Amino acid sequence: MVTSKKTGLQEFELIRWIQRQAGSSSHLTMGIGDDCSIQPQHAGQDLLTSTDLFIEGIHFKREWSNWFDLGRKAAAVNISDIAAMGGTPQSLYLGIGRPKEISDGEMEEFLSGFLTETRKYGAVLAGGDTCGSLGGLMISVTVQGTVTSGEALCRQGASYGDAIYVSGSLGDSALALQLLQCGKQPDSGLVERFHTPTPQVELGQKLSKRQLATAMLDISDGLLADLGHILTASGVGAELEMADLPLSKPFQKALQADPGLIDLALAGGEDYELVFTSPLKDLAVQIGSPHTVTRIGAVSQEPGLRIHHPDGELYRCQRGGFDHFA
Ligand code: ADP
Ligand code: MG
Repeated sequence: MVTSKKTGLQEFELIRWIQRQAGSSSHLTMGIGDDCSIQPQHAGQDLLTSTDLFIEGIHFKREWSNWFDLGRKAAAVNISDIAAMGGTPQSLYLGIGRPKEISDGEMEEFLSGFLTETRKYGAVLAGGDTCGSLGGLMISVTVQGTVTSGEALCRQGASYGDAIYVSGSLGDSALALQLLQCGKQPDSGLVERFHTPTPQVELGQKLSKRQLATAMLDISDGLLADLGHILTASGVGAELEMADLPLSKPFQKALQADPGLIDLALAGGEDYELVFTSPLKDLAVQIGSPHTVTRIGAVSQEPGLRIHHPDGELYRCQRGGFDHFA
């Protein structure tokens, strides 16, 4: 029965409400609330499952990309949720709502990109569903993976004194999107980060297997929002050093022309890098190539998140993290 016609709930309020309605279950060690659910299996393995939507006009525009890259991205952003737990992707399930005007050739290219990305990580397309769509193209992907029992890295687990690390560089994807939205063509390095993000599977596995991290997730909604999930789940705060944020060459160049762009590195979203906490202070050295991880701050006892500007002041980011209903 519909009891309210209000539409004001923000994305995370709605998810929290759904979580309360769903309740918990004894067959899951983690249900709603992390990058994946965790279901213990026999033989010392935990099964990880995650699902995400990829909707035309919301997540992508046909004219900005090609069908092969769209297929790759649909797989990559889901595989990233397995990476975020330190797991190994195994099976993907692909739901397609196809509008009439998308040709067979275009669907073939999309699938080819999806399979290329899936196979790159040793996973397989194991099922799905196909129907027509009266709106745009709608893609729903579910991914399953495995991790050694008890080794999954969750949002909860960060503690006072831990260092905060991030992999790769921040803000490239959001900067590319901003340029595309203004009708400009971004540098190839930037636009690749937006069209074909790289899930950090190997790095995630290294961190979980060697028990180097206390909490972790992948950055899909922006560093501040996603690190915020770790802080909330762990009941701690954070001090971030703005000068230590890892930025790519093309991002630094754009930043020189417009210093306000730093907010894209802080809150832009779709980086699909890993943000994690660790008691170890020299992880950047321990992890070694080909991965780059950068220490960007520390976990504090005081709740909330403070960004320290190089001039000694606290910095206020003007952007919020991505919220689908904001
Ligand atoms: P992510 O960025 O990793 O996809 P989300 O913010 O989308 O994470 O989701 C947070 C948590 O809420 C996840 O555990 C996800 O499975 C759960 N969740 C999101 N939407 C729903 C829904 N409609 N029904 C049940 N669980 C949901
Ligand atoms: Mg999601």
